[in-house]
Amino acid sequence: MFEEGGRLKAIYGADKVYDFTLGNPTDEPPQAFRQALQEIATHPVPGMHRYMSNAGYAETRGAIAEVLREDSGEDVQADHVIMTVGAGGGLNVIFKALLDPEDEVIISAPFFVEYKFYITNHGGTPVVVQSREDFQLDLEAIGAAITEKTKAIIINSPNNPTGVVYSGKSLDQLHQLVEEKSAQYGRTIYVVSDEPYAKIVYDQVKVPPVLGHIRNSIVVTSHSKDLALPGERIGYIAVSPRIDQVALLVDGLVFCNRILGFVNAPALMQRLVAGIQRESVDIQAYQEKRDLLYNHLTSIGFEMVKPEGAFYLFPKSPLEKDIDFVEAAQKHNILVVPGSGFGQPGYFRIAYCVDKAMIERSLPAFTALAKELGL
Ligand code: PLP
Repeated sequence: MFEEGGRLKAIYGADKVYDFTLGNPTDEPPQAFRQALQEIATHPVPGMHRYMSNAGYAETRGAIAEVLREDSGEDVQADHVIMTVGAGGGLNVIFKALLDPEDEVIISAPFFVEYKFYITNHGGTPVVVQSREDFQLDLEAIGAAITEKTKAIIINSPNNPTGVVYSGKSLDQLHQLVEEKSAQYGRTIYVVSDEPYAKIVYDQVKVPPVLGHIRNSIVVTSHSKDLALPGERIGYIAVSPRIDQVALLVDGLVFCNRILGFVNAPALMQRLVAGIQRESVDIQAYQEKRDLLYNHLTSIGFEMVKPEGAFYLFPKSPLEKDIDFVEAAQKHNILVVPGSGFGQPGYFRIAYCVDKAMIERSLPAFTALAKELGL
C-alpha cells in the first residue's frame, strides 16, 4: 500500500491521494519534548552516550514507576520497569523470556499482525480466538482456548485496529479466568497488555490500569503514539509487583533485552521521556478527526463500532471480500488496509493519524465510493 500511495501521488498529485494506511502519526511531538531536547543539547551530561544498565536509567524507570503507582494503586517500583526499544522490542523481550518451545500465546482477532511473528520468533505458537461482534474480549472463547501449553494471553486496549477499550469489569473477569486456569494447569499464565494507545482516548473514557486489575500482568508500551516518537524507538515493560517470583522474571527480561541485541533502550530518549510522562500529543485534535470521519462515513452508509480510543476506524467492508473493497477504494485514490491483514476478513482499517485537511479533502471521495457501491 505504501508503494501504491507513492505511485498514485506521482500520477494525481499528493493532495489528490488519501492515504489512510499507516499508524505513523503526522503530528509533531509535544512542546515539552522539544524543550527537553533543547535543554540536553545545550547542557550535555558527561557520559550521556555510554552504555548503562541493560534495564535502563534508574531515574527514568523511577519516574515511570511513580506514574504507574499513582494510576494503578499497585506498589510499582523502578525495579519493575525495563526500558525497551519501543513496544515491538518489548514484546520480543517478553516472549524471549517467557516462552519454551511450543508454548501457546492467545491473541484475539482482529489483532496487530506483528504479534504472530513476535510469538513465532521465540518458538511459541499463536492461538487466535475471535473477539465478540462489538470487538470486546470474548472471555468464553479465551477460556476454551487455554490448554496446558498456554503461557500468555495478549490484550491490546485501546485496540489496533478497532479503537475499542476494554472495561475494568472485563479485565476483572480475565483476571479470574487466568487465576483459575493457572491453578488448574499448575503453571502461571501471564496477561501481556500491549498498550501504546493508552493515553489516546475520547469522550472522558478512562483506560482501566491493567496492573491494578490483573495480578499476573505484564504491561508493554511505548511513546511512539502518545508522544509521536515512533522513529525514536522508546518504550518500556512494567511487570506487576504481585507476580510470583517477580524478581526472577525481571532478571530474565533484562537478560533478554541484552541478548536480543537491543542491549538497552536509546539513552538520549530515556533521558528525555523521564520528565514528560504525563505529557501527550493533542488528544482533542484526534477526537475531532475521529468525529469527522466517523460521522461522515456512518451518514453515507458505512457500518462500524464507534472507537473510544487509538486512531483507527474499522468499518465493515460493503463488499464480501475486503480485498475487493480496498481495490474499489483505490480507484477513488483512497488507500486503506484490508481487515484480513488483522486476522479479520470482511472489514477494513482507516488510520486517521493524518492531517485534518487530507481527511476533509477525502470526504467527497468516500461519498462517491459509497454511491458506486450502492450504499
Ligand atoms: N502494538 C500495537 C498495537 C501497535 O499498533 C504498534 C505499532 O503500530 C506496536 C505495538 C509497536 O509500536 P512500537 O513503535 O512501540 O514498536
